[in-house]
Formats: sequence, C-alpha cells, structure tokens
Amino acid sequence: MSHPWIAQRTAHMDSSGIRKAFDLAAKMSDPVNLSIGQPDFDVPDPIQEAAIDAIKSGKNCYSPTQGIEPLLARLQTDVDSFYGHSDRRVLVTSGTSGALVLAALAMVDPGDQIILFDPYFVMYPSLLGMMGGICIPIDTYPDFRIDVSKVEAAITPKTKMILLNSPANPTGAIADEDAVRGVAELAARHHIALISDEIYSQFSYDRPAIRAAKYNEEAIVIDGFSKTYGMTGWRIGWIHGPSAIIERLTMLQQYTFVCAPHPLQWAALTALDIDTTEYMTAYRKRRDLLMEELNGFYECTEPGGAFYAFPKAPWGTGTQFVEAALAHDLLIIPGNIFSRRNTHFRISFAVAPETIQRGGEILRRLADQRR
Ligand code: PMP
Repeated sequence: MSHPWIAQRTAHMDSSGIRKAFDLAAKMSDPVNLSIGQPDFDVPDPIQEAAIDAIKSGKNCYSPTQGIEPLLARLQTDVDSFYGHSDRRVLVTSGTSGALVLAALAMVDPGDQIILFDPYFVMYPSLLGMMGGICIPIDTYPDFRIDVSKVEAAITPKTKMILLNSPANPTGAIADEDAVRGVAELAARHHIALISDEIYSQFSYDRPAIRAAKYNEEAIVIDGFSKTYGMTGWRIGWIHGPSAIIERLTMLQQYTFVCAPHPLQWAALTALDIDTTEYMTAYRKRRDLLMEELNGFYECTEPGGAFYAFPKAPWGTGTQFVEAALAHDLLIIPGNIFSRRNTHFRISFAVAPETIQRGGEILRRLADQRR
C-alpha cells in the first residue's frame, strides 16, 4: 500500500514474499516450521540472571553511546588480542542490524556500488538501496563458493564496498581461506571497504570460520549476540574497524539509536564467558540429520555453518515448490527472497530433531511428486 507521505527511499523495498509465507503459516494449524531464522534454545540462565540484576540495580537509563565501559573494554581486548591491529576500535550497537544500518548510513552515497554475494541476507539490498547504493550481486550458484576473479571483474571506479557474510544466511556456506583472503586482499589493493558480517561465526561445524580482518587491517567486522546466545530480541551487537569509521558510526548512533539497550549490555558481558559448545554440537548433529533426510532427493550443498540449508527445488520454481510445501503443512522460505534466482528454498535446522525428521518426510514426498 502506498501513501503520499511515504518517502521515495522506501519505494523499492518489497517484503511481500516473506510476508505471504508468514500469512499462510498463520492459517496453518500445526505447520512443520522450518522457516525460523533464530536459535530454538533460550538465553542461558546466567545471562538471564545478569539482565535481571542489571534491571533491578537501576541500570535502566541511557548508556554511553559507544556502550558500557566494561563490555566495550572486554570486546576491545578480545579484538586486539585476536587481530593485533593498531587502529581497530569497537562500538556496541543495537544488534548486528543496528551496526549494518550505521555502516550503510555512514559509508554509502547514492550511486555507490556494493558488491555482495548472491544468495545474500535479505536485509542487504533493501538497506543499501535505501541509501541509494547499487547492489552488484556475484552469483555463487551452484555450490555457493566465492570466485575471487568474478569479484575482481565486478570492480569499477564506483565500487565502494564489498559485503561478505560467512557463515552465510541463507546457504550456511562458509567461505574457504583462499576466498576470504582473496577478497580481503582485493579490497585492500583497490582501497574498497570490506564489511564482514560474522554473526554466525560460532555456528561453524567442521572448522573455524575464517576472519576477513586477518587479511585486511581495514576490514569492518560486524558481530552480535543474537544467534550465539539465543537473545535475538535483546538487540545487542558490535562492530569494529578503523577508528575514523567507528567514530563516525558512534556519532550516527548518538542521533539514531542513542545506545544499545543498557541493562542487556550488562547481560551481554556475562554472555562472553558462557561456553556454547553444547549448543553448537547439537546444531552440528541437526545439520547432519537434515543432510541425511535430503540425501538422494535434493541437490543441496552441505552447510558448513549457520543453521540453514539452501537446496534446489526438485521441480518448478522456488516459489512454486514452496507453495506446494505449504499445502503439505511445511513452512520453508522461497529462495528468490535472498537471490536474483528463483530456483532454491531455505530450510532452517534451528528446530528439534523430530521437526527436522517430519520436514524431511514431507520433503521426500514432495520431491517424488514430479518424478
Ligand atoms: N546478518 C545476518 C546474516 C543475519 O542472518 C541476521 C539475522 N537474521 C542479522 C545480520 C541481524 O541480526 P541481529 O540484528 O539480530 O544481530
């Protein structure tokens, strides 16, 4: 629906695909829901206690714009000891999304080109488009590997930024060392900003995710607490990069979000000492279970991380296949929401193993339908 007061910058946005799926889901009585983009475990108890303590002890006012000192100091120490860069500063943000919004506001001018990898996180094109940025998607089908020569070929005098997300939403793909290093060095050589969205870095099942800033001192890294600690509703994330950039982001935060939620920043500090191995082990098993369920029926690159798989629809377009799945009480997301292509669909395995099995059963039946 349009309205004369609505600004042009929102005109190109379209959330109809995802909304349609959720509207249909709302009408289903007991759907097998493999569409959810957040962990199914709750915030660990010590983190909940820390949040309650913070609220009860009056930490409810604004925090400093850049974040509470102990959290900032802890993140800065971790970042410094990991990277050892001389000019890398941290800012606490309202989720990873908050960091992305600030980075886009601070860095993207109308007409700037931003290279990203297709399939991409659903928010990227809308957010960058809102700033007048032009997205240049690099197709990574069929195995979602990054071909550095394609990135190099896409660089023009208008290229401002490369946006990397590994482990990735919606594919679960983890970029290998050569790809991350290649992209990082390419960005440095061309003096293009490199933003690395590492929100799923802990969800890495076979080997640790490679960090882009290891190969590019000026890379801007975005991370958050949402997924790792099951606190998506608490809206805490952080960003680090060259101090001149972080300073500008801090100013923008002052005039937009003001600060990340104050009491929950204290809880986030506690979160940093929580061992999440148990969750990650459980999620690895779910990934393995899902792959077994799909084996022989679907073309699907094994996700190395995050909690998504992105199989090819065995018949029809991604949208047609998802509509058929909905008719069988299975809720999945069509790939065209994350891509210029409409050939795949996203499955989330952040659900109980029984739900993965129920979903697998329906998916095998659906794959057989047109054989
Ligand atoms: N980046 C990616 C790739 C994501 O999948 C998400 C959440 N779906 C976010 C950023 C945003 O996370 P949050 O704002 O909760 O930190």
